Amino acid sequence: MAYKRVLLKLSGEAFGGGSVGVDPDVVSSIAKQVADVVRSGVQVAVVVGGGNFFRGAELQQRGMERDRADYMGMLGTVMNCLALQDFSEKAGIETRVQTAITMGQVAEPYIPRKAERHLEKGRLVIFGAGSGMPYFSTDTVAAQRALEIGAEVLLMGKQGTDGVYDSDPRSNPDAKMFDELSYDEFLTRDLKVADATAISMARDYALPMIFFNLDTEGNIARAVQGEKIGTRVHA
Ligand code: UDP
Repeated sequence: MAYKRVLLKLSGEAFGGGSVGVDPDVVSSIAKQVADVVRSGVQVAVVVGGGNFFRGAELQQRGMERDRADYMGMLGTVMNCLALQDFSEKAGIETRVQTAITMGQVAEPYIPRKAERHLEKGRLVIFGAGSGMPYFSTDTVAAQRALEIGAEVLLMGKQGTDGVYDSDPRSNPDAKMFDELSYDEFLTRDLKVADATAISMARDYALPMIFFNLDTEGNIARAVQGEKIGTRVHA
């Protein structure tokens, strides 16, 4: 295995299978892949997005106050966490959910040192509710959590895209995918596949990132094993 401890960011979009809510078949398939990686002895923590429920920016455009809309976004991530927890346990691994907004009936609060203990015991740790703060994204939280728990790499699992392209492959058939990319180039090109705050945090603390396609079965294991897939972003 190339890595001993990884932080996996799963976009909310993937959980919805393209629509609003959770697609149990998709979450079950992701959970099985994650469970295989955990069973292979790699410590895995996950940050789950919430774009399949609500995005603060979109609700704001439609008239809501941004901060309240962002809290809705964060609560949406928790539903994804519970779905992932359920299917991961069905796939035979132990899990813990920790949330940045306290909700003791459904999850533990975010306690980084406790999260590390869970990881050492071979449990999948699932982080929900983003940072607990509006005006952030789950990409940025993924970079922060990766740093705080000492993950060696931030694996950015995306839906419907193989990696980072120089322009949107959905609208430009000539778009080219990068195999490697520096943090600075990512920021200069203003690429939209992750937010700039996440990239600059990764740059400042030298956290390598790998963007890869979640739709391809087995890709999570490939990324963890250090196979060349997707786009690697580093110094
Ligand atoms: N969010 C937030 N603070 C955070 C993380 C998330 O306010 O620390 C809100 C924000 O409104 C965001 C939504 O939660 O749009 C869902 O997260 P995100 O868009 O990052 O999910 P993804 O695109 O990965 O599915």
